[in-house]
Amino acid sequence: MSEITHPTIQDGWFSEKSGMWPGQAMSLKVDRVLHHEKSKYQDVLIFDSSDYGTVLVLDNVIQCTERDEFSYQEMIAHLALNSHPNPEKVLVIGGGDGGVLREVVKHESVKSATLCDIDEAVIRLSKKYLPGMAVGFEHPNAHTYVGDGFEFLKTHKNEFDVIITDSSDPEGPAETLFQKPYFELLNDALRDGGVITTQGSENQWLHLSLIADLKKSCNEVFPVAEYAYTTIPTYPSGQIGFMVCCKDATRNVKEPLRSWSPEEEERLCRYYNKEIHRASFVLPNFARKALSN
Ligand code: SAM
Repeated sequence: MSEITHPTIQDGWFSEKSGMWPGQAMSLKVDRVLHHEKSKYQDVLIFDSSDYGTVLVLDNVIQCTERDEFSYQEMIAHLALNSHPNPEKVLVIGGGDGGVLREVVKHESVKSATLCDIDEAVIRLSKKYLPGMAVGFEHPNAHTYVGDGFEFLKTHKNEFDVIITDSSDPEGPAETLFQKPYFELLNDALRDGGVITTQGSENQWLHLSLIADLKKSCNEVFPVAEYAYTTIPTYPSGQIGFMVCCKDATRNVKEPLRSWSPEEEERLCRYYNKEIHRASFVLPNFARKALSN
């Protein structure tokens, strides 16, 4: 074991405890702590786990593990990009590990992909410890900007086809990214027919009222606002949701507008395919009822 200690690690196990999921905690066996620092914005911990590869933790919350990150990154990216007829200019807010950028540049139509993360430490450390995700930064069409996503949007109007908000949870530096004024800024930053996806307030088992509030805020701004979700073992209760919204009232984001051939899907993606695009919007009765208003 490394000499680096951290309050979330005891007896060789990391445990993710939070008031956002009271009475439960995901635990991962730690092989070695690779890095710990307090950045200007958050506590950054990176460790090698015995079964999930390298793990990035911000403010004691798992952000991604090498083993299952592809589920989240592919779904948050391709649900939006394949709901747009010709995405050329794309913005990622947050996403400092580079994984969403990696997915965005898989689309040949994309001429420019800009990432705006508030914390240079996440970008710097992901390049060092999470190269499979940070590979996204190396693409010639990728541009990186360090700053607050909310502030960035204030100075960008009518510019992007797709905006993906890959933020941390609504406690800490990402709090403003889950509220109606942020969705208004997103709407203004999109060109006609533009699409957004956002990390949709965790999951149906734990945060239904938060999701309902988020969906209501999105519905007040966008004519189309739908909730989708994916399975992922290391997020609380094994799921995470997304809001998928569009400026064009006639667009059905539940049906992919563009799709790859099955061979291309197989080559490019490990989780996303056009069937799972459609299926990700199908909710169990208890969630459908709570989100129906
Ligand atoms: N997929 C992860 C999840 O749902 O837990 C999120 C991963 S990504 C690393 C989250 C990123 O959002 C972090 O790098 C953090 O620095 C960034 N972030 C948080 N608040 C932000 C803000 N206001 N503007 C831009 N980036 C922000």
